[in-house]
Amino acid sequence: MPESFLSLLGERLRQALRQAEWGLLALTDPLTGLLNRRGLEAELPKLLALARRYQAPVSVVMLDIDRFKRVNDTYGHPVGDEVLRRLGRILEASVRKEDLAVRYGGEEFLLILFGAGREAAKDVVERVRERFRTERVPPVPHPLTLSAGIAGGEVPEGKEVLEEWVLKADYALLRAKEAGRDRVTLA
Ligand code: GH3
Ligand code: MG
Ligand code: MG
Repeated sequence: MPESFLSLLGERLRQALRQAEWGLLALTDPLTGLLNRRGLEAELPKLLALARRYQAPVSVVMLDIDRFKRVNDTYGHPVGDEVLRRLGRILEASVRKEDLAVRYGGEEFLLILFGAGREAAKDVVERVRERFRTERVPPVPHPLTLSAGIAGGEVPEGKEVLEEWVLKADYALLRAKEAGRDRVTLA
């Protein structure tokens, strides 16, 4: 094989790898490695199609760290960042392969749980809360807590329904905050 052909092939391969890397970066959040909103948009159609095909329920969970601003203000932004990373890892470890874990906003996370009714979703969130509470991020001396709202738990007929569930989960989260934080509320 002529050398020029091999070197062209090598260049093309490197280019393809770079493109794949950039594509992945565009869909994930650099701090936590979770999906970002674009990643959610990209992955959602697949999950919805599977849910319809298998008539599987889907639950939507919106989570938000309690009094996170205090962590930043008291211990500094890098410590806050570490808290976000740890929660990202906990979320990743607490959901299944088919589920989507998304960094939805600064310290707000969205879970789309495949094959999960609301009770199953609640179990997942309680596991996350427990793991987060027992996580120690030096020098933060106190346990970390979060609040969550859950919606859905049925077979989603389409994207619009799911978007509605996201709003409902967000609203349920708001009520969890109002009720005193460190709790889960069902929509
Ligand atoms: P609440 O219990 O009501 O949720 O109170 P909170 O303090 O958690 O909520 P608030 O929305 O007032 O504060 C969110 C904070 O999250 C403010 C913002 O600076 C911080 N934040 C957002 N993104 C990042 C980030 O990437 N790193 C760090 N360290 N902080 C972030
Ligand atoms: Mg918060
Ligand atoms: Mg918030």
